[in-house]
Amino acid sequence: MPMYNPKIESMKADEIRKLQEERMVKMVRYAYERVPMYKKRFQEKGIGPDDIKSLEDVHKVPFTLKNDLRDHYPYGILAVPVTEVVRFHASSGTTGTPTVVSYTKHDMDVWTNNMARAYACAGATPNDIVQNAYGYGLFTGGLGFHYGAERLGCAVVPTATGNTKRQLQMMKDFQTTVLCCTPSYATFLGEAAKKAGMDPLKDLSLKVGMFGAEPWSNEQRKHIQDTLGLRAIDNYGMSELYGPGVAVECEHQNGLHIWGDEFYVETIDPDTGEVLEPGKKGEMVITMLTREAMPLLRYRTKDICVINWEECECGRSHPKIMRITGRSDDMLIIGGVNVFPSQIESVLLDTPGIGDQYQIIVDRALLDSLYVKVEVAPEAWNAPGFNKDALAKKVGENLTAVLTLRAKVELMEPGALPRTEGKAKRVIDLRKE
Ligand code: ADP
Ligand code: ZN
Repeated sequence: MPMYNPKIESMKADEIRKLQEERMVKMVRYAYERVPMYKKRFQEKGIGPDDIKSLEDVHKVPFTLKNDLRDHYPYGILAVPVTEVVRFHASSGTTGTPTVVSYTKHDMDVWTNNMARAYACAGATPNDIVQNAYGYGLFTGGLGFHYGAERLGCAVVPTATGNTKRQLQMMKDFQTTVLCCTPSYATFLGEAAKKAGMDPLKDLSLKVGMFGAEPWSNEQRKHIQDTLGLRAIDNYGMSELYGPGVAVECEHQNGLHIWGDEFYVETIDPDTGEVLEPGKKGEMVITMLTREAMPLLRYRTKDICVINWEECECGRSHPKIMRITGRSDDMLIIGGVNVFPSQIESVLLDTPGIGDQYQIIVDRALLDSLYVKVEVAPEAWNAPGFNKDALAKKVGENLTAVLTLRAKVELMEPGALPRTEGKAKRVIDLRKE
């Protein structure tokens, strides 16, 4: 598939590094001169913008945290007068008070271009019909996916989330080729289509799925692809970094290309802050290289990933982030063992007879063992001679084998767990309620 911006997207790694260096040096000075918080942080460390002359010096730059944005509510760390802002968004607040983010005209342009690149990278073309089932509003997903598709030249059907029946009808009647939504909503749409007597493989014309905004596993991907008959592409973004369009997979589905001309990405040890070599798993830290309204220097995303700088078969040599396996603050410690919900999901979806809806219950009383509620797949539930106890035992054994943890498993009837139209709520932490 043609690239949206071949000149930038096919730049060689050393050219990208050179561009990153120029932009980094400029951005550090910009942030220092315009945002009092940055000036203060630099001064506390006894350094100034002159100390950042190349990418080798980036490790000296202080980190920015989510709390820094919350502390500067509502206007964040604005580097321009409010009169130059053309848009505000706020994060969904999955992990606390919402954070407000702001954009100038230039920022909107960069974001929209990043999204147009993402669509083309995923295999979309100007001839596609894009049904955008992300939420419109303060959440960046809706408008981000919307304007990016328009910029590429696609026709957008802005259905937004919900109203599943109408959503499916339009998908059929409009012959939608690209579907945008969270992976959990994609799974739900597949189930709902079957319930409504539709055969998505015959009745729909889907080609590409632009799925993201939450962690999902390869097993879930396979399930969605088989059900909806499309290529399910992983999209990563967060509101602080414009929104969606930070990194996206190409048709090879082997890591997400992160646009290196706009984002300088590092991984660090979340405990010590030390920068890790590419290939080592750590917390992703991102500097936005041309953001005008709210510069973010070394922003700690809390997302855990691995960076890989190998050139991809698609011809793009921007760094790749291998799929996000969870957030550092998502990690559960159960019986002294560190567990990410994604690991649990992977075991569940790998067990034959198990559906793809689950909940992990964390309770003080259960601190030394895992408690999961998981739905049985409809085929297994309805099969003659289905043995619920045997299957529950099998799931428990698989979880114990992989995670070295005792596990309590409660099997549920298909459809029994709540569905969401946005981000799935997989971990129910009773300790916080
Ligand atoms: P909030 O932090 O309030 O949820 P956002 O809506 O901006 O704010 O969500 C950003 C977060 O969503 C990311 O930090 C990451 O944890 C998660 N996320 C987004 N896209 C993906 C993806 N493709 N895979 C895994 N996690 C993702
Ligand atoms: Zn590629």
